Amino acid sequence: MLNVGITGGIGSGKTTVCRFFEALGVPVYNSDERAKYLMNHEHFLIDQIQKYFGTEAYIEGTLNRKWIAEKVFGDKKLLAQLNALVHPAVYRDTERWMKEQSTKNVPYTLREAALLVETGSYKSLDKLIVVTAPLVSRLSRITQRDQVNEADMLARVKNQMEEKEKVKLADFVIKNDRDLAYLEKQVQDIHASLVKLSQKKRK
Ligand code: ATP
Repeated sequence: MLNVGITGGIGSGKTTVCRFFEALGVPVYNSDERAKYLMNHEHFLIDQIQKYFGTEAYIEGTLNRKWIAEKVFGDKKLLAQLNALVHPAVYRDTERWMKEQSTKNVPYTLREAALLVETGSYKSLDKLIVVTAPLVSRLSRITQRDQVNEADMLARVKNQMEEKEKVKLADFVIKNDRDLAYLEKQVQDIHASLVKLSQKKRK
């Protein structure tokens, strides 16, 4: 079973692409969703966040996302500290998930994360897919989806590594600069290549 990662900047279309892969029967682990889940459910992680950030980090057992986002936004040291707490928990969770998938007869699994390259996690993958989209499309899609303003979006984009740096590390690049049918076609082609690769690996 191949271990494939998928990443891309904010609003590039990672989740949309993953839905197409899921429709083809590929198991997808969404690291960002799982991180949110773990911050609310894994006791060890909750304790660590409360120790570091204080009890205000939670309201009645639920992560106070707005409060914590305000704290870490613009403070790289604090953001790095939060990541240093969350990443090991996500790593352990990914390992559990991968073990579970290995009992199924699937040619490969997909791990979706916004910061796969920035965190260095991509190094443990067999293959890396990078989703790209023009900045104008990303801005308009996200401002529509999340009702955030363009200036906030741009600040978030600037916090991430540039798209072209990620593309240099990619085994497959998906260009999300047209309609969804064009996106789906690229997914089908990459799926066919990955199935072939996994068959070769088994031989
Ligand atoms: P985030 O970084 O915030 O997690 P993402 O990279 O996962 O975002 P998506 O959520 O897949 O991006 O896409 C952002 C928005 O753009 C969604 O509302 C999605 O439906 C829309 N979208 C993505 N690709 C296209 C496309 N080719 N045509 C039209 N809308 C699209």
